[in-house]
Formats: sequence, C-alpha cells, structure tokens
Amino acid sequence: MIRIEQVQKFYRVSRGSGSAGKQVQALRDINLHIEQGKIFGIIGRSGAGKSTLLRTLNLLERPSSGKILIDGADITQFDTAQLHGLRQRIGMVFQHFNLLSSKTIADNIDFPLKLAGTYTAQQRRQRVDELLALVCLTDQKDKYPSQLSGGQKQRVGIARALANYPTLLLCDEATSALDPETTQSILRLLSDINQQLGLTIVLITHEMQVIRTICDQVAVIDAGEIVESGDVADVFLHPQHGVTQSLVAENQALDIDLMTLHRHRENGVLARLTYVGAAAHEPILSRVVAQTQVQMVILQGTISRIKNTPYGQLLVELIGTQTDIDLVLVSLRDADVRVDQLELPEQAEQNHRLNWE
Ligand code: ADP
Ligand code: MG
Repeated sequence: MIRIEQVQKFYRVSRGSGSAGKQVQALRDINLHIEQGKIFGIIGRSGAGKSTLLRTLNLLERPSSGKILIDGADITQFDTAQLHGLRQRIGMVFQHFNLLSSKTIADNIDFPLKLAGTYTAQQRRQRVDELLALVCLTDQKDKYPSQLSGGQKQRVGIARALANYPTLLLCDEATSALDPETTQSILRLLSDINQQLGLTIVLITHEMQVIRTICDQVAVIDAGEIVESGDVADVFLHPQHGVTQSLVAENQALDIDLMTLHRHRENGVLARLTYVGAAAHEPILSRVVAQTQVQMVILQGTISRIKNTPYGQLLVELIGTQTDIDLVLVSLRDADVRVDQLELPEQAEQNHRLNWE
C-alpha cells in the first residue's frame, strides 16, 4: 500500500548566470492512497506533473516536502542501502522503451538481474527464459531492439521491469508511442500481469482510453494538483471538475447537426442518461416512457465498459408536458439511471461541439 502525504515538488530553473533561485512548482499538496494489487491511473494534460509524481514513488525525483509511505515506511527517509533495496522492488516502464540497442533482447532483460548481483548465471538464464515466455517473445530472444516492432520493444521493457520480482510497477506513458491496436495488446498484458502476479501498477497517461480499459482507480492531475480521484466508473461517468469533463468530452464529441435539431424544438428537454452495471441490460427506458405521453428521441447512444463494468449512455430529447417529463425523469432516477439535464452553451455553436456540462 502506498500513501502520498502533502507532497510538493519545486524545480529550480536557472537560466544562465544571475537567475539562481527561480523555481517552478510541479506538485502541490498531493495526497493519494494507492491500494495493494490495484491498477491506479493518473491522467492529466502535458506538463500537469504526471511524470514528476510517478518518479517520486521510487525517488527518481525527491519531493521538496511531504511523505511517501510504502508499506508504512517513509521512503524519503531511506538511506542509500534502503533506497537500493526499494528500487529493486519497483519496476519501471517508459514511453520510449529505453532499451540498450547494442544488446540482444535476452541481454536487455538480463541486465537488471546482472546489476542485482545476487543470482548465479544459471538462475539468470532461467529467469530470462521465464520472462521471455511471459511476454511471448521467446522466439525473438537473439534479436536486437532495432529489429522489433514498437509493441515488441515495449514487451521487452515490461519483461525487464519485472525481472527482479517487483511488487510495484510504474508505467510512464507506456503506450503513448504505440498505435491503438498495439496499445490494446500492451494493456491486456499489463492487466494479465496485475492479475497473475498480484503486483500493484501505477500508470500515468494523457489518454482516457487507457484508464478506462485497465484501471481500478484514477486521479486527475492539473497544474500540479489532484483535482479529482476515485473509482474509474465514478470519476468518468460523473466528472465533477472541468479538466475531467473536458477529457471525457473529447471521447464523446457530438455533431452540430444534433444541436440544430434541438434548437428547432420548443418544448424539448435534452438529457444524458447513464446506466451502470446490470441496469445497462434492462429495458428501463421503454418501460418508463410507456407510462406517460412523453416522446423520447434518441440522439446518440453508446454501450461500453469501464474495466469490467458495462454501462450505457444515451443522449435523448424528451418532448411532452413539463409534468410528464418530470415524471419520466423521476422514474428513471428511481430505476438507478443517472440523469443529467443538458443545456446548450452558447459557445458550443462556435466550437461545433457540444460540451457535456
Ligand atoms: P507531465 O509528465 O504531466 O507532462 P512533468 O512532471 O514532466 O509533467 O512536468 C511538470 C512541470 O514541471 C512542467 O511545468 C515541467 O516543465 C516542469 N519540469 C519537469 N521536469 C523539470 C526539471 N527537471 N527541471 C525544471 N522543470 C521541470
Ligand atoms: Mg510526462
């Protein structure tokens, strides 16, 4: 279990002579709790502080103040020997793989084992073979990194990170250099590793899709601050903060034609309906609507899943008397459907996009 308490990070930026002492604040008052065995995602825009935050967990970046507790011990107080031990137990995966180009795939994976200095040659060979099998690269072991695809290189990166039996795996934009299909296969691998080995994964990304696919919990970071955090389904289906809402909106851009359609109706109410889990499979909508005179026009619909939870989202227009519409909305809420009434922001017309606010 990891607990981050009141962590701040300042970087000194000295441009030439004379400007010593100028600082940038990269992290502000970070408090987070990361449970054992979970996949915890941190999402934010470029420059938000994601890499800095991730790198404080193995002290590649030392916080300027605050505590980082791993299994109860504050790692910022560790001496050199303790720090060495800590880094053995934490694996790290990078966006650009960071492989040694002059070494074979097998030697790249062997590298951390060699550095550890605690294994015999025989043990190392055996471990390398196990890891190659785990990431399905046994047949590539004698090749060099330049001979592999991006996805294969990242598999090597993951095998190398797992070499010393870590209990924590840190992933810094591990799929950002990969195409969507390869991204999915790497995410599946990370998810399998999390399940099979039970190790905790903390990953950072600017891609909502990554979080949605494999994370249990998420924290949203903006300008060095955690603005929202919780279970992925809660945070993404009911985003509270502007940054989260805009990340969600990017995944759900809506065409202007639908807005034009709405504008021509006088007595319609525009609503987004979200139903999670078992409710996603039930014909709640038709049942509720059948009880009234309300007409329901479905403008957009998706059924999807967040990790293992199915959910449905519908953008609908309800047309009818206010009393009937209210009745529909109340009945939907009673049936555990989340109802967000939407208003069309003025600027949406210029943006040609509807903001889900
Ligand atoms: P992200 O990973 O979300 O893109 P970073 O953690 O890399 O964000 O950076 C957060 C902020 O800290 C940025 O403003 C960045 O310019 C600054 N920063 C990062 N590393 C350094 C550094 N070594 N020296 C000075 N400023 C840095
Ligand atoms: Mg970064």
